[in-house]
Amino acid sequence: MSPITPADRIKNLPPYPFAAIDKAREKARAEGKDIISLGIGDPDLPTPAFIVETLQAAASDPKTHRYPDYTGRLDYRKVCAEFMKRRFGVDFDGATEILALIGSKEGIAHAPLAFLNPGEVALCPDPGYPVYAVATGFVGGLVHRMPLLEENGFTPDLSAIPPDVAAKAKMMFLNYPNNPTGAVVSREFLTKAVDFCIEHDIVLVYDNAYSELAFGGYKPLSIFEIDSARDVAIEMHSLSKTFNMTGWRIGFAAGAAAHVGALGQVKTNVDSGAFDAIQLAAMEALRRYDDAMVLANYDVYGARREACEKKLEDIGIRYLKSPATFYVWCNVPTDETSASFCARVLADTGVVFTPGTAFGDRGEGYFRIALTVREARLLEALDRVEALL
Ligand SMILES: *Cc1c(COP(=O)(O)O)cnc(C)c1O
Repeated sequence: MSPITPADRIKNLPPYPFAAIDKAREKARAEGKDIISLGIGDPDLPTPAFIVETLQAAASDPKTHRYPDYTGRLDYRKVCAEFMKRRFGVDFDGATEILALIGSKEGIAHAPLAFLNPGEVALCPDPGYPVYAVATGFVGGLVHRMPLLEENGFTPDLSAIPPDVAAKAKMMFLNYPNNPTGAVVSREFLTKAVDFCIEHDIVLVYDNAYSELAFGGYKPLSIFEIDSARDVAIEMHSLSKTFNMTGWRIGFAAGAAAHVGALGQVKTNVDSGAFDAIQLAAMEALRRYDDAMVLANYDVYGARREACEKKLEDIGIRYLKSPATFYVWCNVPTDETSASFCARVLADTGVVFTPGTAFGDRGEGYFRIALTVREARLLEALDRVEALL
């Protein structure tokens, strides 16, 4: 029997952006090349020990073994609210305005189910985190791509959104500090974005996955530091990048009770919450977000960024200087496409970069370096690329 045909939404998915890279990497590995992967944004550093120890103790308590609360433990949500207050100076009621997420990707992917009717438009950054557009398509929504251009500091030009698109738009996704470009935004831009969303009745999903991964005293903003953001915004937070906890799958959404509640209704019907022991460990993490052990992690990424930027200057590769994230967004230094440049670098040097086009058409001409290997390996990778060029 031939397999049953999957739904159109699966058949129509864009090709997995990393498939070509994965294949080329396996080929290079099979040829015995020493691969240095600067492709995936997954911290190589371990979760701080005090968080692991809290999980170990919590997991031994049978009380954590049963179904968790759908919306998250109340004590977890209260600690999330305290974090929002201490870190950003914004007030949230843990009982109604915070929702636990099984990683922020989960909240982002479910948000269109909560807010978008078929045929309505979601405004998605290009280049951008691929989940925004795919999740929009899953619910029959239409994607309008907002180009992130170098001349605008990789922020969208809201005045370039055609009025008929703005009228049909119901959601906007924004993410700063930004993946893949590393760009950060000004309060002025965020104020414009909030005003635009208020004017057009648009839910602003603000993906703040990199809010803590910043260096040299730079402090990324919460969207809720902008006046009236509460009328339109829902902000997604993740412990993944902040505490090197990508494998743990824990985050939270913050926003007005009506917005957070709509997302909660989706989740109640889809999942059954995050493991209680993980929430207990996450509480300890968020309470100690400014602990020296946590801050030391950012210093490691900051030092890698500095070393990488200096080396790129030596090689003569242009890049976006940034005070945040563990990504460096670089201009392709040859007249090749992003994909062919990255394929050639991989085949000849064993170094994996992500072509900008993996994040959308507007990524053409760029590639992304993830600073998720030791500094010595990072510099060795760049030495190899220098020799190739
Ligand atoms: C890593 C990442 C996330 C997802 O983080 P999880 O909490 O691990 O699901 C969300 N958005 C962006 C832009 C990311 O880079």
